[in-house]
Amino acid sequence: MTDDLLSLSTDEFIAGIDAVASKFDSAAYPQQYLPAEDWALLVRAGVLLPTLPSRYGGRDSHVEMCRAVETAAEWNLALGVYVIVNTALALLPVVKWAGEEAQEEMLPLFSGGDPLRAGLAATEPGAGSALSAMTTAFEEVDGGYRIRGRKHWQALSSSAHWWLVVAKHEHRREYGYFIVRRDEGFRTVQLYDALGLKLLDYGVNDIDVTVPRHRRINAEERGVDSVDLFLASRSLLAAAGAGFLRRISREAHAYADGRRIGRKRQSRIGFVRYRLAAIDASATICEAFSHYLQTELDFKGDMTPAFPAVQALKTVATERIVRAAQNYQQLTGGEGYRCGSPTNIAGQAFLDSRVFTVFDGNNDMLSQQLAAHCLTRRGGLPLSEFLAGWPLTAPAVDTLKTDLSFLDRPLDQSHQVLAGRAIGYLFAVTSVLKWAEETGADPGRLWPAVEFLRHDITGVAAEFRLMASGIVGDEDPAEPVGAGAGRPFPFAGSDLTGTG
Ligand SMILES: Cc1cc2nc3c(=O)[nH]c(=O)nc-3n(C[C@H](O)[C@H](O)[C@H](O)COP(=O)(O)OP(=O)(O)OC[C@H]3O[C@@H](n4cnc5c(N)ncnc54)[C@H](O)[C@@H]3O)c2cc1C
Repeated sequence: MTDDLLSLSTDEFIAGIDAVASKFDSAAYPQQYLPAEDWALLVRAGVLLPTLPSRYGGRDSHVEMCRAVETAAEWNLALGVYVIVNTALALLPVVKWAGEEAQEEMLPLFSGGDPLRAGLAATEPGAGSALSAMTTAFEEVDGGYRIRGRKHWQALSSSAHWWLVVAKHEHRREYGYFIVRRDEGFRTVQLYDALGLKLLDYGVNDIDVTVPRHRRINAEERGVDSVDLFLASRSLLAAAGAGFLRRISREAHAYADGRRIGRKRQSRIGFVRYRLAAIDASATICEAFSHYLQTELDFKGDMTPAFPAVQALKTVATERIVRAAQNYQQLTGGEGYRCGSPTNIAGQAFLDSRVFTVFDGNNDMLSQQLAAHCLTRRGGLPLSEFLAGWPLTAPAVDTLKTDLSFLDRPLDQSHQVLAGRAIGYLFAVTSVLKWAEETGADPGRLWPAVEFLRHDITGVAAEFRLMASGIVGDEDPAEPVGAGAGRPFPFAGSDLTGTG
């Protein structure tokens, strides 16, 4: 099947994905696990090919990975997540770091048109944000490794054929990634009824497998900085946001133009226009992030230096996704509280988007990590001065001319989370300015987005003042969490990741 697909230009290829993804339109597509035959439509349109190298029949394209997710998410946010899980979360680490024997065994199967699925199993009932608490263990046995444990919340729990399983050495402080086939001993013992993202199956998975030696991806041995393993899927949430919010913005305007409240069109009401402007600003910010993803990052190369940018992309994009879905639902009134309303997709948008600030690293933790990253690099400068010179934030500081001196104080855990949010907003302003300059975007879209982000930073300053009133009391110095807790889980670059 792939020969025809391999000769297409990027635009033709994405148009093919778009045509197939339109069949999954969230306005009409059933809220149920995606059947294999429907996944087959996308696989045959080539949705996995950008992730795969050419020697295994792939198109090997970072930009197409981003655009495929954006396209899928515009039709159906859950479909965008489905694509991210199979590509960036599960296949990409194999493409980048598995040995040749494991690649030969697995990757050609994914370019052949069969509706195979793959997932990543890291989270456990007792180990979510702090993965170093995981109890799934591996031991060396004759010819390979035995891995035993319990995972939960894996996307595609009961349907993925191939798994990347993260486990800890039985006795040593050492982590390993293993490529596992479901039929080797990956059993789904309970299915969860998730609030949204109904196209994906989630649940509890028991693992008792023995895999041959070549199925271990030893990130450290291959000289890989393991931070990299999570960054592609995390940053693709911004691409999903770009597609999703383009649609939400379009549909919110259409709804408000069509709805009459009394004798007035809803879209003529002042505060409705304010909510629409907030949705539009969110769409602009994610579009700028999508541009950043495509022009500044390369999933196929070393992503480690992109760590701070990815933390900012994920946290700001997902916050915007959730807020815009909430604004849209407010505008659609009671109709937005119905499943399957003929006038809007607000209910589904709200339920599908809610988890974005939780999964793939909860936002509070990622914000803390972003602040910690800057604090360790500021070389004795006050944080505000560091940010004024740091390439990811300097253009924003220069443009906004906002007082950031509230950041120049000792930052305990809660203040690091808040500071990380402010840094994320500054990064977003920089991205929006860059996008506008490089694409010649309409200033009527640029400046409202900048002003909404300025307001977000002012909001963080107000939260610093609120904290100073003593509302949370003293922090417990004996229980450090987050970035302050050191680096016991190497794959995430710190103790805490959260995946999927
Ligand atoms: C829909 C969905 C899909 C998922 N997909 C996958 C997947 O494919 N594979 C996989 O392995 N896992 C997956 N997960 C698991 C997901 O990554 C975890 O839920 C996430 O890491 C959070 O872990 P937890 O649920 O145990 O929450 P906890 O670790 O208990 O955290 C709960 C809350 O505590 C707070 N918190 C924690 N740490 C900090 C901190 N440092 N600073 C401030 N606040 C903090 C935050 O508010 C956080 O939201 C998925 C989860 C969901 C809901």
